[in-house]
Amino acid sequence: MFTDHMVTMRWSEDAGWHEGRLHARQPLTMDPAAAVLHYAQEIFEGLKAYRTDDGGVALFRPEANARRFQESARRLAMPPLPEEYFVESVRALVAQEREWIPEIEGGALYLRPFMIASEVFLGVKPAGEYLYMVLASATGAYWKGGARAISLWVSHEHSRAAAGGTGAAKCGGNYASSLVAQAEAIRRGCDQVVFLDAAERRWIEELGGMNIFFLFADGSMVTPPLTGTILPGITRDSILRMARDEGVDAREEQYSIDQWQEDAASGRLVEAFACGTAAVVTPIGRVAGPDYGFTIGDGGTGPRTARILERLSDLQRGRAPDPHGWLQRVD
Ligand SMILES: *Cc1c(COP(=O)(O)O)cnc(C)c1O
Repeated sequence: MFTDHMVTMRWSEDAGWHEGRLHARQPLTMDPAAAVLHYAQEIFEGLKAYRTDDGGVALFRPEANARRFQESARRLAMPPLPEEYFVESVRALVAQEREWIPEIEGGALYLRPFMIASEVFLGVKPAGEYLYMVLASATGAYWKGGARAISLWVSHEHSRAAAGGTGAAKCGGNYASSLVAQAEAIRRGCDQVVFLDAAERRWIEELGGMNIFFLFADGSMVTPPLTGTILPGITRDSILRMARDEGVDAREEQYSIDQWQEDAASGRLVEAFACGTAAVVTPIGRVAGPDYGFTIGDGGTGPRTARILERLSDLQRGRAPDPHGWLQRVD
């Protein structure tokens, strides 16, 4: 459910960033030749504001989203928004809309900062005018009834990103090109698609909008490395750091689909989960491809996955110590 207000700010070659405003949510009036509608110069972010147990409101690592938004802008030849403008725009909207945060378990205000090329021009070049906006929506738990284990379809036909492409940028174009594979996953009776690398069609990369972790019987864990083709998730980074703080052997390492199947069968691999801001931590119960299928553990939510979800949720809601200063209060 979208809230009543939004933020807008403009950029032009002459004026730079200007006209930052918090105002009533309203439709956009756009010329049909606006560059974004033709060449997809668009980037976005996703973060949440949480109600903390002491009655306050907090953002989780918003400066990390701000930095990633700058990286995405550079890759799409767009002007990077200064980190302080990003954080201030999000904080202003949260302060305005704080009453919208649902008081239910898993409730949060989902924030969607994004930027589009607004110049009216059909020539192919980086646009000379941009519009930055922030929307907010009230969200409940992503998966109704708790973290149900999901099933994954392994796409051997479509890839999400290749070396040198835009895989590490949070841009709408990556999603547009992933939808046909996601639709195939649904058609095959699975919840989500998981992509392999574009070169060898062998190494697991990530889901359409979530990173992935593998948990082993020896207590260690693995997630694919940031080689430029996967999105550097802030949830991924937070889970890695929390695990390493606890002394867990958490490695960023390539992991192949063949090895995953073999390890699931031998019991070397005991759990797997997907992670991201929207769904937090989601257990993976089953994996299927064109001519194979296998189950992870007993197909349900494993104890270590449940614990990681709980630890992260507790931290985000101010119920646990915050050694890295990840929570930013909004008053
Ligand atoms: C946003 C996103 C993620 C998760 O990133 P978080 O910062 O953890 O929310 C993972 N993969 C893709 C493709 C994404 O767009």
